[in-house]
Amino acid sequence: MSTILIRGAKILGGEPADVLIDGETVAQVGTGIEAGDATVIEAAGRILLPGLVDLHTHLREPGREDSETVLTGTKAAAAGGFTAVHAMANTFPVADTAGVVEQVWRLGKESGYCDVQPVGAVTVGLEGKQLAELGAMHDSAAGVRVFSDDGKCVDDAVIMRRALEYVKAFDGVVAQHAQEPRLTEGAQMNEGVVSAELGLGGWPAVAEESIIARDVLLAAHVGSRVHICHLSTAGSVDLVRWAKSKGWDVTAEVTPHHLLLTDELVRSYDPVYKVNPPLRTEADVMALREALADGTIDCVATDHAPHPHEDKDCEWAAAAMGMVGLETALSVVQQTMVETGLLDWAGVADRMSFRPAAIGRLEGHGRPVSAGEPANLTLVDPSYRGAVDPAGFASRSRNTPYKGRELPGRVTHTFLRGRATVVDGKLA
Ligand SMILES: [Zn+2]
Repeated sequence: MSTILIRGAKILGGEPADVLIDGETVAQVGTGIEAGDATVIEAAGRILLPGLVDLHTHLREPGREDSETVLTGTKAAAAGGFTAVHAMANTFPVADTAGVVEQVWRLGKESGYCDVQPVGAVTVGLEGKQLAELGAMHDSAAGVRVFSDDGKCVDDAVIMRRALEYVKAFDGVVAQHAQEPRLTEGAQMNEGVVSAELGLGGWPAVAEESIIARDVLLAAHVGSRVHICHLSTAGSVDLVRWAKSKGWDVTAEVTPHHLLLTDELVRSYDPVYKVNPPLRTEADVMALREALADGTIDCVATDHAPHPHEDKDCEWAAAAMGMVGLETALSVVQQTMVETGLLDWAGVADRMSFRPAAIGRLEGHGRPVSAGEPANLTLVDPSYRGAVDPAGFASRSRNTPYKGRELPGRVTHTFLRGRATVVDGKLA
């Protein structure tokens, strides 16, 4: 059994302390811990966080291994400081049966870089017509608790109601990709000043907000849990805040890119900025940051959406929607939330580990850094400054909007149950 001593790191940004990892577990936390024959990591000035948890990752396997596999995606996750990711169901075949979710779960086990918790589809084939085998996916080895047709909206109110009723039995949650389909037909970007000037089809905020309004009401009516994926507008924030004020069981996530980027970038016509939901306005970005800071938005989720270059390096209208995000998420959160004074590192631990693990009912992750807990940990050097170089990504895809942009912070080490998956910023 290997023992590792992390010396002098600031746990959740607090006072420097030592953390001794013995095998798979945090054995001791304190000051002046004797190293003995442990491997010592000198970590003065660094921040120690619980391993990050992503509620929203597209690993693409099975079916689109040209863009990502479970192995490359979990390597990217580890490089970004994640120890658990939820793998979205829009694969080929769709993860709408016990067989497919078990396949993804098994591939995650074999990868060894990051725990993979499969998300089950809400409807058969993501077609929105017939409920998938939610109970069978929950009862499978994968133990699915989060269900989503992400990529598509569950737009039929009756189907959404039935899904919410069904998952109640096993404390599951429906994660909704809120996009009214009729209001977004032919939409290419946020509907507003920029779309009018560019003559691109607009994607109105109300297409997102109308579904959120309906679904928080449905969740309240049924007495079930609903989670709203990738909030992108100020109006969506208002609706979630209102739902929470009523005491309803509503949670929400925001992506790093919606905390930083705006639709002004679309003027470049560079499809790297094409994403669903679209980049919005500066006012929306500010509202999302405020909401993440005050807890209205529960967590950051990457919506890591890898695409091969032939699906992105083409004209705007033809390009696929989505951006990779696992390897830059923490840096973007540091820049937009920590360096703006909106969130401290304990807040980052909450929004990127504790709360997403709690929403997914994930065991062994999102735990405090204390003795007896599983050693799922992330060590960050917040003083690092460097330009993003996609050539160094572990992901199979390179569709990052941050190429060449300087972002703060770097994950130096990630530990999955005591095993170092990242050492000195490199995959182990
Ligand atoms: Zn989505």
